[in-house]
Amino acid sequence: MKKAAVIGNPISHSKSPLIHNFWLKQFNIEGSYEAIKAENNKEFEKTVTKLVDDGYSGFNVTIPYKSLAHEICDEHIDVGYVSHYPSDLKAANTVKILDGKLIGYNTDFFGFYRTIKGPLNILNKNVIILGAGGASRSIAFGLANMKKYFWDLNSEPTLTILNRNEDKAKKLIDDIYRSNLTTKKMNEKLKLTSGNFEDIYERIKGCNYIINTTPVGMSEENAHMPFDINCFKDAYTIDGKNMMLVYDIIYNPLETTLLKEAQKMLLLTQNGLGMLIWQAAAAFNIFFLESDIDNFEDKYSKKFNEINPELYAKLKKEIG
Ligand code: NAP
Repeated sequence: MKKAAVIGNPISHSKSPLIHNFWLKQFNIEGSYEAIKAENNKEFEKTVTKLVDDGYSGFNVTIPYKSLAHEICDEHIDVGYVSHYPSDLKAANTVKILDGKLIGYNTDFFGFYRTIKGPLNILNKNVIILGAGGASRSIAFGLANMKKYFWDLNSEPTLTILNRNEDKAKKLIDDIYRSNLTTKKMNEKLKLTSGNFEDIYERIKGCNYIINTTPVGMSEENAHMPFDINCFKDAYTIDGKNMMLVYDIIYNPLETTLLKEAQKMLLLTQNGLGMLIWQAAAAFNIFFLESDIDNFEDKYSKKFNEINPELYAKLKKEIG
């Protein structure tokens, strides 16, 4: 029997056990997946040792242990068709245990990318990411690496990171450029810039894609962005129609204040539920299906597409 788990703090809200146990049943795999709370770094490391001793296939990692998980891994592996520069990303959300060794992956960008393939109908010229934490890092590294499908290479596309702590946004940009120097994988036409939330009034001009990676919107006390979202009216237009897509990677609540306000402005919106499901699918493959990560989509997309509508419905009901 194969076993896996998710470790974090807090962890009771995690939807990962529901998702993985649903798939275990659907794929007819004898296995289990549980949530484990680790109060601090020491407890996290102790838990990992126990999972190795107990023969687990691997584990997911959530707030606040993704960078510690990266540090304790013996090896790091790129995920899927978009390289993640794992050594520069410095955050692992999935760890496979193989012959006692810890192999780190980050499946967050796979989850994000898998969900933008559908609604993508225009190539992007000007994209803004709000936040510069772990999720922002994986999305920014992934987008900077994309040469096909995503960026309008006939223009001079720009990726802007805006963060409360501007230095952190700048560091993320520097890390991506530095990574590019060593790997030469980055889209060379792309310009990367950073700033704080005040800069949005200037940077929103011509923006056709904005991605919230901050936790603003997860709770009622912290529901509103620290800027006036009416500035979205200055975003990218075609024939006078505002074409900006607002993606909030939060999935609980399903509709944050940001998304509700954007919908009132008749903008296209997307929440984080699809990303949650697809980053988990890549992890499920690593723990339980063990197909080569690059072939995983070809091999299992059909099955996931068949069974996932029921999972979406279950999760929507759970989240409310
Ligand atoms: P993180 O590493 O803690 O980063 C949070 C970022 O948000 C930091 O840049 C932080 O700014 C900023 N921030 C925090 N509170 C803020 C506030 N009140 N106002 C403005 N900015 C604020 O967290 P993370 O792991 O990236 O996760 C961020 C969010 O993404 C969470 O809501 C998480 O649930 C969600 N997420 C969703 C998925 C999915 O599959 N859908 C996957 C991963 C994460 P400073 O740098 O200034 O502190």
